[in-house]
Amino acid sequence: ALERAGDAVTRLTRWCDDFPTAGVRFADLTPVFADGPGYRSVIEGLAVAGAGADLVAGVDARGFLLGGGVAMELGCGVLAVRKAGKLPPPVHSESYSLEYGAATLEIPCDAPDLKGRRVFVIDDVLATGGTLLAAAELLARAGAEVIGVAVVLEIEELGGRGRFDRYPLTSLVRV
Ligand code: AMP
Repeated sequence: ALERAGDAVTRLTRWCDDFPTAGVRFADLTPVFADGPGYRSVIEGLAVAGAGADLVAGVDARGFLLGGGVAMELGCGVLAVRKAGKLPPPVHSESYSLEYGAATLEIPCDAPDLKGRRVFVIDDVLATGGTLLAAAELLARAGAEVIGVAVVLEIEELGGRGRFDRYPLTSLVRV
């Protein structure tokens, strides 16, 4: 599954220079997810990394496309980690800095109760790692045991991996 996923991602990812701002090389995985065998191989590859989870958390918004599929594959539930302002209170929230400015992620306080839940956290791309780390910290603060975090594509030169000493990080493809 890992090899098939790697092939699909390498073949189908659309790279866009200077988006959303000058100097950024944006990896658009839309064509990977829109390809039946490609999407299946990515879901299966991520599910291998998430074995043992009893809840899959997907990060707003492309992580949702992955989280649902992986949860089905693992036979467990799925949780959306939302951007600020989407969920009714009470929420747990975690703010973090981006290259420009800041952002906040939120999950419901006690619905579900995450104490003791074994959670696997997924997003599409790892750049600086701030987003995925904030999601993992948010879930851990809510009482979850974060058993791992994963992305489809890791952009190595941005050094995000170095921030994940506390959470095992899997990436299907590194560039
Ligand atoms: P970061 O917090 O820097 O790791 O950024 C990760 C989030 O922003 C992920 O949700 C990605 O979808 C998106 N992102 C950041 N940089 C890129 C990029 N070069 N290509 C594609 N997505 C990116």
